[in-house]
This record gives sequence, structure tokens and C-alpha cells, in this order.
Amino acid sequence: MRLFKLRLEMIWYLITPLTKGVFARKVDGMKSDQHTVYCKKPGEAMAIALGEANRAAQAGEVPVGAVIVESSTGRVLAQAHNRVERDNDPTAHAEVLVIRAACEMQGSPRLGDCDLYVTLEPCPLCATAISFARLRRVYYGAYDPKGGGVDHGPRIYEQATCHHKPEVYGGLSEEACATLLKEFFQSRRNASD
Ligand SMILES: [Zn+2]
Repeated sequence: MRLFKLRLEMIWYLITPLTKGVFARKVDGMKSDQHTVYCKKPGEAMAIALGEANRAAQAGEVPVGAVIVESSTGRVLAQAHNRVERDNDPTAHAEVLVIRAACEMQGSPRLGDCDLYVTLEPCPLCATAISFARLRRVYYGAYDPKGGGVDHGPRIYEQATCHHKPEVYGGLSEEACATLLKEFFQSRRNASD
């Protein structure tokens, strides 16, 4: 019995490194996606983030989606959408979830060779998480004058206490990202009328 257990463990140790890092992580309860996706242009990565945002809306979550792409290869490492309501977790923002998944996949708490795409300007929490993860670039869609923390509010990356400032590109696919949010909140208002 002990030998059998030992063999199982050996097989596990052999298989784990082979599967790790091969499949993109999808943060929605599924462990991994069964195919690797590559993005050549920022618009392609944002389209994946928009797909995630749509899934969030369908699940009754604020429609924000995020993707992390390895910049040297264009490989999508992870994608996620807001899961605050489902998880009863106020920090389960798309960016936090996608950072966790990509770090797990890379086996590192830093993602220096990676870019993050998100459909909405990151809030102060996520802007800080992005800095901690040492992400190279942030591309975001809709501007968020009320809750954003990058180009509005506390402007996290302009603070002396911020030790890693990613390159920021706002307004990518802005209209599509903003429309999704507007429609979501409009339908919520209509439902509560
Ligand atoms: Zn956030």
C-alpha cells in the first residue's frame, strides 16, 4: 500500500510540471482552458476581456473582464471576470482574479513580462495589485471618473509610495466597454423601477 502511494506521488510530481503553464487559466470555476490562445494585437486581447465582461453581466455581476498576456509571445495566460457577488468577496475584481491565476500559472508573484487588459479603468485596489505584480503594461477600456484609481481619484501610479509604475494605455475599445457597463446599470435600474 505504501509503495502504491509512493508511485502515485511520483506520477503526480512528473505530470504536474508538464501541465503547469501549458493551458491558460480561466477563472470561473473551471481549472483550465483546453487550448492556448495567442494575441497579436492589443485589440484582440481586449476582445477576450470584453467576452469575460459579457459573461459577468450574464451572471449578474458588474461587467468587467480582464486578460493577462505574456508580452514576448502574445500567449494568453489567464482571463477572468468580476465575481464579487458569486464569491461574496468585495475584492474579487477581474484584475485581482486574473493576476492570481497568472501568477499561479507562472509560479511567480511577479509578472514583469506580462500585460494586463481590462475593460474598465482599474480601481485603487486593482491599480495597486497591478503595481505589486510588476506588470509591464495596463490597457483599459472605459474611463471611470467615479471609481478609477489610475487616471482619476488617487492616481496610484503618480504617488511617491508607488514603486512600480506600469505603462498605461486608456480608452482601448472604449465605446464597447462603456456601452456594456451602461446597459447593465440601465437594466438594473429598470428592474428596480
Ligand atoms: Zn478593482
